[in-house]
Amino acid sequence: MENSKEMRTWLDDMALPHPLVIAGPCSAETEEQVLKIAHELKDTDVNYYRAGIWKPRTRPGNFEGVGAIGLKWLQKVKAETGLKTATEVANKAHVELALEHDVDLLWIGARSTVSPFIMQDLADALEGTDKIVLVKNPVNPDLALWLGGIERLHTAGIKKLGAIHRGFSTYEKSKYRNIPEWQLAIEFQNRFPDLPLINDPSHITGKRDMIFDVSQTALDLNFDGLMIETHTDPDNAWSDAAQQVTPQTLVQIMRDLKIRKEDDQEAAYNAELSNLRAQIDVIDQQLIETLGKRMKVADSIGALKKQKNVAVLQTNRWNSILGKMILEGESKGLSEEFVLKMFKAIHQESINHQEKILKA
Ligand code: PEP
Ligand code: MN
Repeated sequence: MENSKEMRTWLDDMALPHPLVIAGPCSAETEEQVLKIAHELKDTDVNYYRAGIWKPRTRPGNFEGVGAIGLKWLQKVKAETGLKTATEVANKAHVELALEHDVDLLWIGARSTVSPFIMQDLADALEGTDKIVLVKNPVNPDLALWLGGIERLHTAGIKKLGAIHRGFSTYEKSKYRNIPEWQLAIEFQNRFPDLPLINDPSHITGKRDMIFDVSQTALDLNFDGLMIETHTDPDNAWSDAAQQVTPQTLVQIMRDLKIRKEDDQEAAYNAELSNLRAQIDVIDQQLIETLGKRMKVADSIGALKKQKNVAVLQTNRWNSILGKMILEGESKGLSEEFVLKMFKAIHQESINHQEKILKA
C-alpha cells in the first residue's frame, strides 16, 4: 500500500506536525465558553481550534448554532491564544463570512458532501482560496461521492485540500454512532495518497470512552491527523454532549497514543508493519460480519424449508456452490484445498443454524 507520509503535502510545506490536531467544541455556545476552552487548549498539542458556528441538525428545534457572531469569538481566540481557527461552512454566505473573519481552516460537513449541487456552490465560493479546506465523507458510504466533492474543490484551484473521515450512518445495530468502514478510508488513501486524511473519532464513536481506540486505529492506518471535539463541560454541551472530552482528557489521549514518526529505518519498518496489521484487522472484522450476515440468510432459508417441510441438506445446490467458489478462489490465488475446507466449515455452520430452526 502507498504510504501517505512518503509524499510531500501542504502539511509539510506549512511545517505542520504529525499528527495534526484539530480540537474544540462541537458548537460555539457563548463567547465565554469559546474563550475558556481555547485557553485550556493553548499549550497543548492542538494546532487548530474548531467550533461549529452554523450547526446542521437532524431535526429542527435543536440548537442550530450562534451564527456569524461566533466568528468574532474565533478572531478573539486567535488574538488571545495564537491558535489557528476552524469552522464548518455549508453555503456561499458562510464561506464569505468565514474568509472575511480570517478563519484558517474551513471544513465541509457530511450533510453537504452528499450533494453535488452544494459541493459545486462551495467550490465556486472558495475558488482560489489559500485557506485549508477539508471535506468530510458523505453521510452514506459512497466513496465516489466523497472523491467527486474533492475533485470539484481541486478544480476550483484549492491547494490546501484534505479530507476528514467521520464514519457513515447505518441502519444496522452498531456500537458506533457512525460506522467507520475503515476499508473505505484505506481505499481513499490508495486513490489519493498525497491528500491529507484526518480522522474524526468523535462523530464515529458518539461516545467519549471509545475515542482513544478509534484514534489509535486511525494513526496505525497512516492518517495524518485527528479532529476531536473538546469542551470544558461536556455533559452540558449544547450539541453532541456524549462524545466531547475535556481538555485534560484530550491531553491524556494524545500522551497515550502511539504516534509513529518515520525518522529512522527501524521506525519506518515498525510503522509499515503496524499499518499492514491494522489493515488485516479491518479485513478480519469484515469477514466476521459477512459470515454473520450469511448465517442470518441461512436462518431465513431454514424457516422457509420448515414451512414446506423440506430437508435441510440439498446436495445439488451444495455442489454447485462449491464448484463456483473453487473457480472464484483460483482467480484470487486461493488453493482448491483451502476453499474446500473453508466452505465445508461454513456449510456445516449453516446446517447447524437451519437445524436449530427446524427443531424449534
Ligand atoms: C461537526 O463536526 O460538528 C459536524 C456537524 O460533523 P459532521 O458533518 O461530521 O456530522
Ligand atoms: Mn459535533
